[in-house]
Amino acid sequence: MKHKTENLAIVSNHSFAASKVVNLHHYDISSALQTTLEFAELIDLFSNKILHLIPHTGYSYENIQFKLDIKKGIVTEHSCAYALKVENLSLGSLKLMRQQRFSDAEIRLLETLLCTLIYPLKNASIYQQALTMAYTDSLTQTNNRTAFNASIAREMSLAHRNANHLSVIFLDIDHFKHINDSFGHNCGDMALSSVAHCIIDTVRESDIVFRYGGEEFVILLSNTDLDGAQIMAGRILECIENHTLAYGMNFIKFTASMGVSSLRRNDSIDSFVKRADQAMYHAKQNGRNQIQSELMEHAL
Ligand code: GH3
Ligand code: MG
Ligand code: MG
Repeated sequence: MKHKTENLAIVSNHSFAASKVVNLHHYDISSALQTTLEFAELIDLFSNKILHLIPHTGYSYENIQFKLDIKKGIVTEHSCAYALKVENLSLGSLKLMRQQRFSDAEIRLLETLLCTLIYPLKNASIYQQALTMAYTDSLTQTNNRTAFNASIAREMSLAHRNANHLSVIFLDIDHFKHINDSFGHNCGDMALSSVAHCIIDTVRESDIVFRYGGEEFVILLSNTDLDGAQIMAGRILECIENHTLAYGMNFIKFTASMGVSSLRRNDSIDSFVKRADQAMYHAKQNGRNQIQSELMEHAL
């Protein structure tokens, strides 16, 4: 069953009944769509598999929940767009494009074939959501340590391959135990969330923020050299310093210490992170509420 909303038809699981007449096309497409749980791959496979039945020169796929906006091929005058849904779960919208108008017969065929895409998209949605949850720290909504382990290896190898800069900031909240001891763990948790907000609001979209441990955060900054990372750390420090946590009748101020390091050619994950960690400890020893970089550490 399809409904027209403006120029966007909705294909839902009700349409599945229409596809009970399983034919070879369905079987071929369905088999191909079983091979991946990646949205981009699913849409590309679908586009390729239907190309000889419904010729098109490009497509776009948008999925707000997973921040996807995929475009491939040539953007043209004529298009047909579908909002894909199953059991009220939105699965994004797909638009096929080409120079000539799509005929009614082609549109009817496309709507039947789209049914083969819905359940693979639903499976991808469930899988990607589980993956996001497994990689997210529930208190601060930043990436967790598991995500860090997966990301740092990838970011380091990308930086080496493309000869790009990569820097890391190691952040530890100052005297955090005192906040917990004086105002309770609930207040401590709020302080952790405030710091996470300061970091997320300051860094660029391409930077990745992790809660590394209890009151420690790590920020990976791609395409950023040591000077750039120090500037970024300075902005985070300023944000935390300017923040006041209102907890009951208490107005609580707190600070953080940071260490910064930049990737070197022969670095292992350990050596890269360790330099930032050591620089952070130097910031602690030097009086807290400050940033130290690996270079200043070497100058000592
Ligand atoms: P320093 O300035 O040297 O970093 O001192 P500190 O008190 O911040 O460091 P310390 O390592 O002594 O204490 C860290 C505290 O963080 C102890 C631990 O109970 C607390 N903590 C760790 N995880 C959480 C959490 O999820 N919530 C709260 N509220 N506290 C946490
Ligand atoms: Mg600590
Ligand atoms: Mg601390």
